[in-house]
Amino acid sequence: MKALEDKILSKGVIIDNKILKVDNFFNYQIDTKILKSVAQFLASHFKNVDKVLTVEASGIAFGVAVAYEYNNIPVIFAKKSKSSLTVNDENYICLIHSFTHGVDSHVYVRKEFLKRGDRILIVDDFLAAGNAAMGLIEICKEAGCEVVGVCAGIEKEMQGGRKRIEELNIKVCSAARIVDFKDNKPIFSKEEC
Ligand code: 5GP
Repeated sequence: MKALEDKILSKGVIIDNKILKVDNFFNYQIDTKILKSVAQFLASHFKNVDKVLTVEASGIAFGVAVAYEYNNIPVIFAKKSKSSLTVNDENYICLIHSFTHGVDSHVYVRKEFLKRGDRILIVDDFLAAGNAAMGLIEICKEAGCEVVGVCAGIEKEMQGGRKRIEELNIKVCSAARIVDFKDNKPIFSKEEC
């Protein structure tokens, strides 16, 4: 998506050749015009979606924006701490390694919100090594849901997430697909998503 690529080029900061800092427009202070176009772009690549699944915190804005593009579908977000109002067996639980913080943490999704046969679109702000997406895929599998696809606002393909997900025969799409960082600048894929 050209508008997002241009914004990354003008405002993004690459840290240690690994992390792209875009919190002035993407996942802290959010440019809602960009968010809306990213959501329209991502939703246009996936049909017949029943529910959107994301992970708190920075996935929520993207999950909501993408869900709005469909006809009245809910968005569910995996929580990083168990609600004190539930007990363990009311939740699907999995361990996710955080790309940015380097720690493993559990995420929880209340069982009642995922029904067997639901067609789920997994959405996040970033796709890097794919740990968050793989964790959510595992939860969907346990719930008997079908994963229609995984999509992200920005993808860093060189960190391997897309490959891991596509190996499961799950479609991946991102609005800005970065294939590498070179001379402190992102190189974008020539593929559409
Ligand atoms: P993954 O689980 O695919 O390795 O990483 C995705 C998660 O890590 C996203 O939820 C995102 O919040 C965070 N993340 C990964 N890479 C970056 C990055 O370059 N910049 C920012 N801001 N977050 C990232």
